[in-house]
Amino acid sequence: MIKDIYRQGRTVFSFEVFPPKKEEEIYDIYKTLDALKTLGPDFISVTYGAGGSNSKKTAAIAAYIRNLCDIEPIAHITAVAMDEKFLTGFMEELNSKGVSNVLALRGDRPKDMTDEAYANRTFLHAEDIIRVIRKQSESCIAAACYPEIHPESESRESDLRYLKQKVDTGVDFLITQMFFDNSRFYEFRELADKAGIRVPISAGIMPIIKSSQLGTSVSLSGTSVPKELSHLVAKYADSPEDMQKAGIEFAVNQINDLIANGVDGIHIYTMNRAATAQAIMENIDR
Ligand code: FAD
Repeated sequence: MIKDIYRQGRTVFSFEVFPPKKEEEIYDIYKTLDALKTLGPDFISVTYGAGGSNSKKTAAIAAYIRNLCDIEPIAHITAVAMDEKFLTGFMEELNSKGVSNVLALRGDRPKDMTDEAYANRTFLHAEDIIRVIRKQSESCIAAACYPEIHPESESRESDLRYLKQKVDTGVDFLITQMFFDNSRFYEFRELADKAGIRVPISAGIMPIIKSSQLGTSVSLSGTSVPKELSHLVAKYADSPEDMQKAGIEFAVNQINDLIANGVDGIHIYTMNRAATAQAIMENIDR
C-alpha cells in the first residue's frame, strides 16, 4: 500500500492521469501509462468525474496500473453525487481489481446537479466518505489539502481545523492542490504541523507548458501565480516551444527546491503528457 512507501524515508514520486472523455481514446491512456511506467514512479493516481459518470473508467485504468504496469494505483473518488450504496459498490469493484488505495474527495458540484439535490446530498464533506470507507475496508486513504486555502473556506484557521478533523477520521497521507510559490507550501506545512497534522504531505506540481493553462482553472483554484511565472507566460505567448521549455524548467526548479527542503513527496499533474513528465524526471535531483 502507498502508506508503506512513505515510511521508507525518501522522497516519494507520483503522477496523476485522468480518464479520456472519448471511448476511442482509452487506448491512448494505456500508451501514456506504459511510458510513465519507465520513469519509475512510486504510484499513479487516476481522477474521477464529480458526477460519477466515468467511475468505470477510473477503476479500469487503476486496474491497468496495478496489474499490467505493476505500480501502486490510487483511484480518486468524489462523493458529491453518490450515496453509500454506490460508494460501497465502487469500493468492492476496486478491491476485486487489486486497487487498495483511494483519494477520497468531496468534489465540486456537477453542472447538472439541481440546488435541491446538492442541498440533500448524502456526503457533505470528504470527511464523511472517509468515515464510511474506513469502517468498510482496510484500504490506504489519501485526501486533498490546500496550501493557499480552499476557495470556499472562511479562513486559514477554519480550513486547517477541518483538515485536522478529516485526517483524524482516517487519512494516511495528503496531496496538495497545485501551487507555484514554494513559500506558500512551506508556510502551510508548518501550520499543519502546529495544528497536529502529522501524515506525509505530497506537493502537487502542475507544469505550465502552455500559456493557456494559466486561465480559468488556475484562477478558480485560488492558486497565486508568482511574477516569475507570469513573466514567462507573457514572454513566450507566441512561442509554444520556448514556453514548453521554460515551463518545464520552472517545474524542475520548484521540485529541486522542495526536495532540498525535505518534502515528503512530489505529485506531478501530468495532464496525460508523458513527454512532459519525462523531461521533468530526467532533470530533477532525484
Ligand atoms: P473537503 O475536504 O470536504 O473541503 C471542502 C471545503 O469544506 C473546504 O473549504 C473545507 O475547509 C470545508 N470543510 C471540510 N470539512 C468540513 C466540515 N466537516 N464542516 C464544515 N466545513 C468543512 N475533483 C474531482 O472532481 N475529481 C478528482 O479526481 C479530483 N482530484 C483532486 C485531487 C487533488 C490532489 C486535489 C487537491 C483536488 C482534487 N479535486 C478533484 C478537486 C476537489 O474535488 C475540490 O477541490 C473540492 O472543492 C473539495 O474537495 P475536498 O475533498 O478537498 O473537500
